[in-house]
Amino acid sequence: MSDVIVQVSDLHKSFGHLEVLKGIDMEVRRGEVVCVIGPSGSGKSTLLRCVNVLEAPNSGTVVVNGFELTDPDVDIDKARRAIGMVFQGFNLFGHLSVLDNLTVAQRKVLKRDKAEAERIALDNLTRVGLAEKAGSMPAQLSGGQQQRVAIARALSMDPAVMLFDEPTSALDPELVGDVLAVMRTLADEGMTMLVVTHEMQFAREVADTVLFMDGGVVVEQGPPNQVIGDPREERTQTFLARVL
Ligand code: ADP
Ligand code: MG
Repeated sequence: MSDVIVQVSDLHKSFGHLEVLKGIDMEVRRGEVVCVIGPSGSGKSTLLRCVNVLEAPNSGTVVVNGFELTDPDVDIDKARRAIGMVFQGFNLFGHLSVLDNLTVAQRKVLKRDKAEAERIALDNLTRVGLAEKAGSMPAQLSGGQQQRVAIARALSMDPAVMLFDEPTSALDPELVGDVLAVMRTLADEGMTMLVVTHEMQFAREVADTVLFMDGGVVVEQGPPNQVIGDPREERTQTFLARVL
């Protein structure tokens, strides 16, 4: 099995006349944490959405866990199972308990029986520190707890890679730390992660590779101490001066 879990090559994506991704090359290797930073509108979410098959690229290739998403013959449902996604909003099913939020896709998609799905759900709720909330409804939880449930739900599908799109940017500041702590634990456990974030401290401490995007291109990428600590490109320096 290849050690490259996500491979993006010369990816182009336009919406009408607006070219949003202008030839992106990047990869995430097994067990690696790649953080994507950059100004609003630079194409970060679009990149993640192309990796998660929510958008179809205009050209270029995206390979996830050995599935070439851009191949018309690929089994997209199977490919998508390799990917866990956590968005900015919490996206839980409001009418289902926390436990049922974690079991429904396991049962439908992975055909796990109820007992196994519930055992795996509880294991993952324990991982995010919320085992005691299994019987709660999403509305009874804080935003930070809901986001941790969303992480546990994605983990319950045994993804090969977890994608995060600004998972803490809709949270009250005092709730951000708990979510970042869970993500940090996942990283320590060896989870393969592609994370779009504004949390520079997190990127600096947790990422193996940081990628700075601006205007639909990867301006600079490398280890955090270089890209955040000692950026070479003027555009990176300007961005960091604004956010740090
Ligand atoms: P980021 O996540 O870095 O803020 P996005 O990938 O969300 O950037 O957006 C990049 C650009 O693409 C923006 O100009 C945005 O308005 C545009 N865009 C994103 N999605 C669509 C869409 N579905 N239709 C039209 N334009 C879009
Ligand atoms: Mg975005």
